[in-house]
Amino acid sequence: MNLKGLIDCHTHCKFSPDGQDEPVQLAQKAIELGLTAWALTDHCECNTWYGPEHYGIDSKTADSDDILMYNCRKFHSESIEPVRELKEQLSGQIEFINGIELGQPLQAPDVANELIVDNELDFVIGSLHNNADEPDFYFLQYDKMQLHEIYKLLDDYFSQVLEMCIWGRFDVLGHLTYPLRYICGKYGISIDMERYRDKCAEIFEILIKNGKGIEINTSSLFTDYKATMPDKDLVMLYKELGGEMISLGSDAHCAENLGQGIEIGAELARKCGFKYCVYFKKHIPVYVKL
Ligand SMILES: [Zn+2]
Ligand SMILES: [Zn+2]
Repeated sequence: MNLKGLIDCHTHCKFSPDGQDEPVQLAQKAIELGLTAWALTDHCECNTWYGPEHYGIDSKTADSDDILMYNCRKFHSESIEPVRELKEQLSGQIEFINGIELGQPLQAPDVANELIVDNELDFVIGSLHNNADEPDFYFLQYDKMQLHEIYKLLDDYFSQVLEMCIWGRFDVLGHLTYPLRYICGKYGISIDMERYRDKCAEIFEILIKNGKGIEINTSSLFTDYKATMPDKDLVMLYKELGGEMISLGSDAHCAENLGQGIEIGAELARKCGFKYCVYFKKHIPVYVKL
């Protein structure tokens, strides 16, 4: 795989609770692929920032999956020094972007507001992995739900994404339509996305107005969902509404998957009429020819 001239702006290393590799292993892969720019964007889940005990959860008796994403603060604080060193090491080899994936900022705005003012950060992805007071969409068992309950979850999801975009203190919106990866992909339930077209248009209009981008997240191309998040129809809608900022991200959680699907995401963007993708340095967009 040669991704010369392209970017991968969504990746996780061992400083994410669900990541595994050393940052330097990801860096080596990014250089090997010929990427123009690579962003490390470890999880900063605002609503599970502290350890489970902080939220009154006993980590000894709780389901280990359910508590996986807690304690992001610990991971984040451990990452600061190694990431600083890596940045120095990589100087002149690849454009390294020091980023974070900010999860559910409005579910703990104090945490979010403190994180985003860090002046070492180049780039913030705004993501929603769970509705307020609900588990991550990954954990829900959609086969045990009625269809109207699934639509209720999605109604809430798109409304909460819109609220997050109105708040807007990030650079790109992460993986819009994330729940579909599980609902449509893993559980094979079909969803009428026409129901959400107006809401998505509203989301895009806010982002465009505020100078924020969207990402084409390619991680679900290789799952049963077999599409990017968001898919081509929505990327096209973003374009039609005047959107110009497209980021590309593999959402790799190990070095091996870095860059996976980026070519497909870039081709999708070209087909939708985009001539450039974008990465961010100190939150300022840098355009790269597609
Ligand atoms: Zn995510
Ligand atoms: Zn991610």
